[in-house]
Amino acid sequence: MSADAASTRWFERARAVSPGGVNSPVRAFRSVGGVPRVMESARGAWLRDVDGTDYLDLVGSWGPMLLGHAHPAVIEAVQRVAARGTSFGTPSTPEVELAEEIVGRTPVDLLRLVSSGTEATMSALRLARGVTGRDRVVKFAGCYHGHVDPLLAEAGSGVVTLGIPGTPGVPAHVTADTIVLPYNDRAAVEAAFAELGDEIAAVITEAAPGNMGVVAPDDGFNAFLSRTCREHGALFISDEVMTGFRVTRSGHWGLDGALEGWAPDLLTFGKVMGGGFPAAAFGGRADVMEQLAPSGPVYQAGTLSGNPVATTAGLVTLQHADDAAYARIDEWAAQARALVTEALSAAGVVHAVSHVGSMFSVFWGLETPPRDFAAAQQQQTWRYGPFFHAMLDAGVYLPPSAFEAWFVSAAHDEDALSRMAAALPAAAEAAAAAAAPA
Ligand SMILES: *Cc1c(COP(=O)(O)O)cnc(C)c1O
Repeated sequence: MSADAASTRWFERARAVSPGGVNSPVRAFRSVGGVPRVMESARGAWLRDVDGTDYLDLVGSWGPMLLGHAHPAVIEAVQRVAARGTSFGTPSTPEVELAEEIVGRTPVDLLRLVSSGTEATMSALRLARGVTGRDRVVKFAGCYHGHVDPLLAEAGSGVVTLGIPGTPGVPAHVTADTIVLPYNDRAAVEAAFAELGDEIAAVITEAAPGNMGVVAPDDGFNAFLSRTCREHGALFISDEVMTGFRVTRSGHWGLDGALEGWAPDLLTFGKVMGGGFPAAAFGGRADVMEQLAPSGPVYQAGTLSGNPVATTAGLVTLQHADDAAYARIDEWAAQARALVTEALSAAGVVHAVSHVGSMFSVFWGLETPPRDFAAAQQQQTWRYGPFFHAMLDAGVYLPPSAFEAWFVSAAHDEDALSRMAAALPAAAEAAAAAAAPA
């Protein structure tokens, strides 16, 4: 019996009842090939699949698991709260405490809780359009903001991995007001505003992109966007669904915004702030957020928004995410990056490791980290499948796409680093031996 016999059986059952056998496309291993591992449990930095194999996890549920899996304090709090009822459809105390925690850490005056990052960006965009009375929105190629119809134009990893440009099902008129510009390109932003400045409701960007692989914003790029928006009466929406509470205690915004004295008008959060449960949020300037129903006319709602179990998991996660935890995560990520570079260099694989805080990714065949999506797409993605599978065989679970960030948790320790170090040399050789598609 092969080592993935149970995973294979479960995945066959999954395929019989779900499109592609998954509930989110990248999980299907389409870009790396092979059968997805079906997981049965997780603890700390480790995943265990239904065949009983343990993997060092560098996906972290795509970002949320900042403290590692099944953190004892999170599990204890969730069990205690769940026993008192799981959803009231009324105001409740955990949602207030989570909002207070986020308002205390970020430039947000008022916050609205939702259940997914997609809902957060969709709602922030609606609010920006409602407040400004304008329809157009600027986004950047390679940035992903969830599967929000008007933002599904050149939307990064998930869509790229499938090789489809945008997606069927989004009518052309729905993206007609979406202006897609190259990331880090100030001249393109200036040109768009020179031509259409009084029609642009908002610029939305990932605070630091992680959905085309990790691409760092040029110094001052976010401040430039904020300033440009202000000059033209548009709102600056910083999407921190991935970076919020992961890159720093407050998100990527906190790296320079607080020092330089600028702030986004609206921010979106998700992933880490839900502590592994479906919780997300958008928030920002009081005068803008007050335009949201029931204070104002812009409608937005959610049956499970502010769910007591989810917000408890998020609150306890943020309470444990102190400076020491971030320092530990940053240090582990730095050591992991060094190991990757060492192994790939020894095998003669040209590559660039790009990082923003502890988030990092490898670009295959590039000499320097890319500054935009066009450059990111120049990478030799065909080296990644063999590398990924060699790592998987050696017990390291990486994101099953070359365009995704690798995520580290506070539970990644010396054992985790040893597993990584042991797996890398053979995987680097596999990447070196990979053949370019004909
Ligand atoms: C993951 C992500 C989203 C979407 O969040 P979901 O919870 O998957 O809907 C939006 N924006 C960014 C930057 C993300 O990384």
